[in-house]
Amino acid sequence: MLTNLRQIVQEVNAAQDFKQAMQILVSRVRETIETQACSLFLIDQKRKQFVLMSTVGLSDKLVGKVRLGLDQGLIGLVGERAEPVNIRDAPSHPKYYLSPKLGDDKFKSFLGVPIIHQRQLVGVLVVQEGEERGFDESEEAFMVTVSAQMAGIIAHAAATGILEKLWAYKARGARKESHTVKGIPAVPGVGIGNAVVVYPLADLAAVPDKEAKDVQVELELFNQALLASRQDIEELSARLPESLPTAEKALFEVYLQILDDNSIGKEVRALIEDGQWAQGALRRVINKHIAAFEAMEDSYLRERADDLRDLGRRVLSHLQSSKQSVSEYPEQTILVGDEVTASALAAVPSDSLVGVVSASGSKNSHVAILARALGVPAVMGTKGLSVTELDGVQLIVDGYYGQVYLEPTQRLRKQYIALAKEEQQLDADLEQLRDLPAQTPDNYQVSLFINTGLNEDAGLSSSVGAEGIGLFRTEVPFMLRDSFPTEEEQRVLYRQLLSAFHPRPVIMRTLDVGGDKPLPYFPIEEANPFLGWRGLRITLDHPEVFLVQLRAMLKANHELGNLRILFPMVTNPSEVDDALRLLARAHKEIVDEGFDVPMPLVGVMLEVPSAVYMAGSIAKRVDYLSVGSNDLTQYLLAVDRNNSHVSNIYDGLNPAVLMSLMQAVQSAHNEAKQISICGEMAGDPASVILLMAMGFNAFSMNATSLPRIKWV
Ligand code: PEP
Ligand code: MG
Repeated sequence: MLTNLRQIVQEVNAAQDFKQAMQILVSRVRETIETQACSLFLIDQKRKQFVLMSTVGLSDKLVGKVRLGLDQGLIGLVGERAEPVNIRDAPSHPKYYLSPKLGDDKFKSFLGVPIIHQRQLVGVLVVQEGEERGFDESEEAFMVTVSAQMAGIIAHAAATGILEKLWAYKARGARKESHTVKGIPAVPGVGIGNAVVVYPLADLAAVPDKEAKDVQVELELFNQALLASRQDIEELSARLPESLPTAEKALFEVYLQILDDNSIGKEVRALIEDGQWAQGALRRVINKHIAAFEAMEDSYLRERADDLRDLGRRVLSHLQSSKQSVSEYPEQTILVGDEVTASALAAVPSDSLVGVVSASGSKNSHVAILARALGVPAVMGTKGLSVTELDGVQLIVDGYYGQVYLEPTQRLRKQYIALAKEEQQLDADLEQLRDLPAQTPDNYQVSLFINTGLNEDAGLSSSVGAEGIGLFRTEVPFMLRDSFPTEEEQRVLYRQLLSAFHPRPVIMRTLDVGGDKPLPYFPIEEANPFLGWRGLRITLDHPEVFLVQLRAMLKANHELGNLRILFPMVTNPSEVDDALRLLARAHKEIVDEGFDVPMPLVGVMLEVPSAVYMAGSIAKRVDYLSVGSNDLTQYLLAVDRNNSHVSNIYDGLNPAVLMSLMQAVQSAHNEAKQISICGEMAGDPASVILLMAMGFNAFSMNATSLPRIKWV
């Protein structure tokens, strides 16, 4: 059954659309269980009903039409109990309900299992049999496993409005609703515009669906690409040595046949004629055939899926190279992708870019950091968002709550347009606060700094009136390169920032890579990266990298004196001692080389629970402490900060986090040391009041949040 399960999942994933996927599901489940009927009922959450989504064994005509109350019949019982219901003689069960439409009175045995996504029932999968038959435990286990695997796909279809469209339910007075996708709020703000899907070239799976602008042009492009691919293969085949066995040579013949006008060519052309652009049509056809091969029992045939993938890629590369690649960006572009890259973002004229939505990634991804620097609202980690269908679709990006609305209603658009206007007005009003101190009415003063990872932020930071940089994430420039930067390259970069802010302080954090921040040229393979080699642990193990960075910082500070250094991911005081020793060594070297540079103030980040418990001891060793509440929350609550499945538990205001923040402040102040906070909480207006009351001396946040925090 495990093989069947794998095949079912593969076929479902490769289906053209959701409807087809669910039809494949019921057919394959019925075959596996060898029963008469298999049906899928999905929940219409708005109307609180089960709807028949797909079936084999009941009439096709009922699909989308049969609706049952959530507590109705045996389907309702499965939902209520949230566990399998397995009955030999269903008609004699007190909950049995004979739906007049369903006409399932010919069945006696019933096995229904709930489909649950993140604690919420999304549907029920049912198998039925005319004979009195006990479905056995292995069949029950199989159904439970399939359902668990399907839950995410179904929840996604519900969230993105696919289900609503399929059911085309037009109740009188029913209002059109927008569909929402949840992600990680990465850059606050509101963006309203049209999706431009970005995707990696030469990746067939990533090609989005698009309407063909000109069917004839797309047909012509495809014909040329097909011809060019055939020529490639003929040339490859001709280059093969005569001695090669005929069986191997025959493979190329097969390739040519696949590319034949009557095979794949014909199918792709039909889709183009239906209005799909050539690349999208190619993806659909190739994927369909790949799925068919992958589902085959015979391992030789199964591996032919790779050949097909290869052929698809070849035709695609010809299509992509012949396409004039001058990308057009609408005036209000929202960049959308499975993985939006920093370079894709940089390619959009900045006055056209109003939002970013990336199915993967987090607040710490390059693209989020870049978007933050540009003040462009962004939502990351919208897992399950199938971006291939989004090109040109109207979107609203709500970077405050991490929501993306697809095809918003007029009403919602109006609300968000009003919100965006209010934002602009607020920003304009807040400008007046720029040169005022951050002070409460009873004269309690705090310092507001900004977090940055890019030198380009300097202008923006000055314009919001920051007192300095509270966190320069030095790993960002490291991540945008393809090898470790040299000492001189780093010195120039750091010097620019120190000069731009002089005399205001700039806190430079030493390299904090590992975890979710990989360096492309320094791969780290770990089963548990967040609990592994990251931050100071790496730099202490690689003094050659650490010393170069420290030397570059110290030299950059020559005749300026506004540098402060910060060590990340400290777990215990001995690491601080080791880091201070290396810093003293770098300082001595620089002084010996003739640079008269002062030893900068040095601080430690508290972002691991053990460091909070040891905060007093750590504070004795350094000049100041800075709380990294992003990581501290993740480690205290044991919840991955980038995982959308558990994002509801990730909460900086959890009492355990608050108690630990309070303890950190007290420990620092007992040692007469200043303590700041530079995690996202510092830029959250509600949290900041609490943090200020706890006694934090300084807050460091992204530049766009600063004026609002000062206003608070
Ligand atoms: C933090 O962990 O709170 C922090 C500021 O560091 P980063 O987000 O870069 O890990
Ligand atoms: Mg951190």
